[in-house]
Amino acid sequence: METKFLDRAIELAEFGMEQNHGGPFGCVIVKDGAIIAEGHNRVTSDNDPTAHAEIVAIRKACDELNDFQLTDCDIYTSCEPCPMCIGAIYWARPNKVYYAASREDAAEAGFDDHFIYEELNVPPDDRTISMKSAERKKAIRVFEKWIKKEDKIDY
Ligand SMILES: [Zn+2]
Repeated sequence: METKFLDRAIELAEFGMEQNHGGPFGCVIVKDGAIIAEGHNRVTSDNDPTAHAEIVAIRKACDELNDFQLTDCDIYTSCEPCPMCIGAIYWARPNKVYYAASREDAAEAGFDDHFIYEELNVPPDDRTISMKSAERKKAIRVFEKWIKKEDKIDY
């Protein structure tokens, strides 16, 4: 863990906020002791609700590495990742995540992820945004093809 990378993530958080790109969140991705990608929140400037600092940085890092995984990379982010970014981080499979501010600190600034954490434990039908299943058998047929597909790239 190197605090200079957290310092850089915090700098990016402030930069993005000052540019009115989105909320005050920044992130850097480090491999072999060097930053390979940086990102800051761009939700409002890009009209993209998924453009959190971590997601922006993960996309850039994967592009840089020409890979869909962040093997042997560390993520340094200015704030504890939200549930969406935790999901993205698990898919990207970095080595470690270091964060500065906590989710409680973010909540005090008006970014309350608590609700989403709670929703994850609610059955899909009962969620605030209802999630209903239909056409399951049709969809499973594609999974069956995937299972048998010989030239698939596993991830
Ligand atoms: Zn996030």
